[in-house]
Amino acid sequence: MINITVIGSGTMGNGIAHVFAQNNFKVTVVDVKTEALEKAKITITKNLDRQVAKGAIDETVKSNTLNNLTFIDNLAEGAKNADLVIEAATENVNIKLDIFRSLDAICKPECILASNTSSIPITKIGAVTSRPEKVIGMHFMNPVPVMKLVEIIKGFKTSDEVADKIVALSKQIGKVPAVANDMPGFIANRILMPMINEAIETLFQGIGGVVEIDTVMKLGMAHPMGPLQLADFIGLDVCLAICNVLYEGFGNPKYAPCPLLVNMVTSGSLGVKSGSGFYDYSAGGKELVVASQFK
Ligand code: NAD
Repeated sequence: MINITVIGSGTMGNGIAHVFAQNNFKVTVVDVKTEALEKAKITITKNLDRQVAKGAIDETVKSNTLNNLTFIDNLAEGAKNADLVIEAATENVNIKLDIFRSLDAICKPECILASNTSSIPITKIGAVTSRPEKVIGMHFMNPVPVMKLVEIIKGFKTSDEVADKIVALSKQIGKVPAVANDMPGFIANRILMPMINEAIETLFQGIGGVVEIDTVMKLGMAHPMGPLQLADFIGLDVCLAICNVLYEGFGNPKYAPCPLLVNMVTSGSLGVKSGSGFYDYSAGGKELVVASQFK
């Protein structure tokens, strides 16, 4: 049995830790903030309670899952016995490069180092370590316990052997892996973000309103959520950052972020997390209400 260490206990880290622990792996969760570790413990317990209430798991699975988890605020202590580290810290290139430099020094030589990054090149992360052949992307989707996909990204020097191990491990935890090569946006965001950006451009050009655009994509293309609502959920700042990764990475104007997206982020309209984006969430968001500037 292999030991897993998850770095970062936020939205993604706690979900990744939950899934591995539920599949009988020993998981150590590391975060620089003790309050983030506390919050992760509470979130995982609540999510397990929900699974028990739905009859998806029983009390024994819940307690085994919790027993498989250790929470710690010290990276060296938390990563020294790991066979696989999955980094899910803040999406900031300098933070991630620092973490991987440290991990390279702390971890056993055979330890595989994975990142859950949405947009930072795996090749760049691998290049700050002495083991780029063991550095790989494991891009889980939110919410991790629910979403089946893991996009596995092979950096320029990632070995086939390491990629095969990560594919097999993903299947072992009930996920469906899809392997991508390391190019800006990988597969998921290469396709999703231009679609979201085009939906914003369609609104910007006055071709349709917020409701019309989302309705066409929901009812016409059978998407579970319209692209503007999805952008609000992802966070408009995150969408803009990923659009810029594609724009700068390929140097192609077709990926330029829509000026309306830039303005919304500049003004602090970030979607659900700020209370307003294309829709207004101030009333709790139970019913979708178009934000006042689009009425
Ligand atoms: P988050 O802000 O919810 O959590 C990040 C956590 O990392 C925080 O608890 C923070 O304290 C911790 N952290 C920061 N620096 C650290 C360090 N040096 N060592 C240890 N912990 C550190 O972020 P998130 O949404 O969970 O995103 C994490 C990663 O997952 C990012 O790379 C993001 O791009 C990627 N991702 C996010 C989503 C999503 O929908 N949120 C989806 C796929 C991938």
